[in-house]
This record gives sequence, structure tokens and C-alpha cells, in this order.
Amino acid sequence: MIQATNSNELFERAKHSIPGGVNSPVRAFRAVGGNPRFMVSAKGAYMFDEDGNRFIEFINSWGPMILGHAAEIVQDAVQAAIPNSLSFGAPTRREIEIAELIVSMVPGIEKVRMVNSGTEATMSAIRVARGYTGRSKIIKFEGCYHGHGDSFLIAAGSGAITLGVPDSPGVTQGVAADTLTAPYNDLEAVKDLLVANKDQVAAIILEPVAGNMGLVLPKQEFLKGLRELCDQENIVLIFDEVMTGFRLAPGGAQQLFNVTPDMTTLGKIIGGGMPVGAYGGKSEIMDFVAPAGPVYQAGTLSGNPIAMAAGMAMLRHLDNHPEVYERLEKTTTKIVNGIKQNMQKLGLNYTINQVGSMFSIFFTEQPVVDFESAKTSDTALFGRYFNAMLQRGVYLAPSQFEALFVSTAITDELVEKFLQANYEALKEAHEE
Ligand code: PMP
Repeated sequence: MIQATNSNELFERAKHSIPGGVNSPVRAFRAVGGNPRFMVSAKGAYMFDEDGNRFIEFINSWGPMILGHAAEIVQDAVQAAIPNSLSFGAPTRREIEIAELIVSMVPGIEKVRMVNSGTEATMSAIRVARGYTGRSKIIKFEGCYHGHGDSFLIAAGSGAITLGVPDSPGVTQGVAADTLTAPYNDLEAVKDLLVANKDQVAAIILEPVAGNMGLVLPKQEFLKGLRELCDQENIVLIFDEVMTGFRLAPGGAQQLFNVTPDMTTLGKIIGGGMPVGAYGGKSEIMDFVAPAGPVYQAGTLSGNPIAMAAGMAMLRHLDNHPEVYERLEKTTTKIVNGIKQNMQKLGLNYTINQVGSMFSIFFTEQPVVDFESAKTSDTALFGRYFNAMLQRGVYLAPSQFEALFVSTAITDELVEKFLQANYEALKEAHEE
């Protein structure tokens, strides 16, 4: 058994001053049992906790650390920016540079506004879509997570599923009534909603690859079909690429699947680990944003110089090194194939979904194409697997309904270590 004395003590202490002991629910390990590990530092593929344990890790801060932890190019850029003050609340040259780079990388973005989180990005994007179209309703998909804005806490994914609160108390009926939901990958359900709500839908928002009910891929015709429906009905198509942006390709899932949305929301990698989000889209739509237009959105720390320095270093690196994506996919495919071999040896046949450097094992034998099929997973078995991996020094997302992220710091040697742990953990999880 690896030690957890210090983490256990810290968790008890944290619960007195922080709700549930954590600042974001899924960190509390509620879905997998046991207490969370409190981290001290991380470098490359490893995180180190308060008990001196070292974990090979596959969360990467839930996505941002695509180059591994404490990547020198990002750390150096941050250190160089710090002496010039942490914040101005006035415009800077760097904000233009990062906006120009984002516009050049992401097909659907002609203008972009920086914010401080993915939540802010999606909240702002739907406000703009509503202002632009003069309509109120939005369509989202069951199991997709778009941050904790009121409009999105309806059939929400990620921690909301994990904690069993996909429809959160505190969201008014009025707000909830403006959010329509459809099953992921179900174009017919969207068509039905559009007939029933003719000329009332401002936006359709989705994760173009869903990562918040575990990893679920879009069917080929789904994204294209949504694009056509939005064109026909003058609806703003929003791709929430907070997870997939700069991860699946330099231009995100929209580049990979060759479907261009009207608006895009970004987060995670765009800040290189700093608190950054962004939303952007066609100029015609983005010019509705204040002060160019009437839709208000602002931020004291938006475009923060340190955050922009980190983000710029990260994006510039990815833009200049597209081979990163090939390498990440190769590593991830090696992992996924290895897991399949392990399962074969153990007589198991669970579903694995993968795209690029994201993957999920679902503890179900059914194909997982939407939230209904994701929910057929055996979450108790997942919990046992998770803890068996943790005991072997591998840190996974502490919920069945999350994707894993692979960083460039995962070497072939670490793939082998992961696969050895995976074999033993799968075996152990089935023995109990
Ligand atoms: N959209 C998606 C697709 C996400 O995965 C997340 C966070 N996991 C968000 C929005 C919200 O981002 P944040 O946690 O930065 O508010």
C-alpha cells in the first residue's frame, strides 16, 4: 500500500474551511471511494503528493498540460513576464499576438475575446448568440458539459454526472426552460426540437468530440448534419472546444472533422495551465460583443499578461510543431492497443473509445455513442480499477465519466509501465 497519511489529514482539515474539502467537485474522489491525494509538485509525466508518492499521470490538469508538467518553454515565458507586473487592466501587445495566432490556427475563428475559464467562454458565447439572433432557446446534448453556467446545468456531464446532479438545484425554471436537450449523435431528435421550437433556437452548442461522459466520438454525419440544420434555420452553431481545442489538431476537432462552426469556445491548453478561456467566431457575430456591439461581456483579469505569456508560448510551440499531434496519437494508440491485449488475456471485452491523445475505457461491452450507452458502464468496477491503478502509481481521472489525456511526456517506457499496471489492476478489480 502506498502511503496516504498526510493527504488524509489534509482532506479532513480542508473539509472545515472548503465545501467538501475541494475547489472543484470531481477532485474529491466521491465516485471512486477513498480520499483525494494532495499534490505538491509535478514535472513531465509525474505528479508528487504530500506523502512523497510519485504518480504517472493521465489527467494533465484535465487537459492543459499537453507538453507535460512544468514544460520549460511555458515556465520560461511566465518567469520572463512576471517582473513587468502581474496585471494592468489595460491592453497589451501580447493580447493582439495571441488573438492573431488563435485566428490563424482555428478555422472557425475570425475574432476572439479572452476570458478566464471555459465556463466564462461558454456563458458568453450563448449570450452573444442570443443577442445576435434575437432568440432565447439553446439546444445542448445529454452528457455534454459546458462549465457551470446556469443554462448548461441541464443533463450536464463531468462532475455533474459523477455527483448525480446533472440538473442542479439553484437553476431557475425560467433558465431551464430555455435549454432544450437531445441525445448526442441523434440528428433526428434535434430536427424534432427545431420543428417544435420554430424560430426560437439561438444556438446549438456541443462538444464536437464529447469528453465529459467519458470519451464519445461524433458519428460522421452528426457534425455535418448539425451544420446543415443551423444553416437552414439561421442558428448559431457553437463548438465547445475547451477540451479538444489545440489537442486533437492545431485547429481542434473542427479541423480534424472538417466542419466549421459559427462560434468556438476554448480553454485549458490555451492558457498552458494558467486560468484562461476564450470565445470566438465569425466577425459578423463577434462584432456584437461590447464595445464593438451591444452584448456586454467584460473581465478585470481578462487577457492577463502572465496568462497570455503562458498561452502564447504553448500555442506557438504547437503551431510550430504539428508533429506533436502525430506523436501523441501514436503513443495513445499504443496504450489503447496494449489495454485491448491485456483485456484479451483476461477474457474481458470492454469498450475503449479513442481519438488522438484522448481515450476512455468504459466498463461495458456495449458500444458507447451517447450518454445512455455510457451509463451502462459498471461504475463500481471502475472504482476498483481506479484505486488499483492508484496503488500502482498511476493517476487516472477519478470518474468513469471523464476522458484521459496523454501528454508528450509519456515515453515508451512509461507506456509499458502503464500497461503492466493496467493488466494487474484489471485482474485485481475482477477478483473482488
Ligand atoms: N467546456 C468543456 C467541454 C469542458 O470540458 C469544460 C471543463 N472541463 C468546460 C467547458 C468548463 O471549463 P472550466 O472548468 O475552465 O470553467
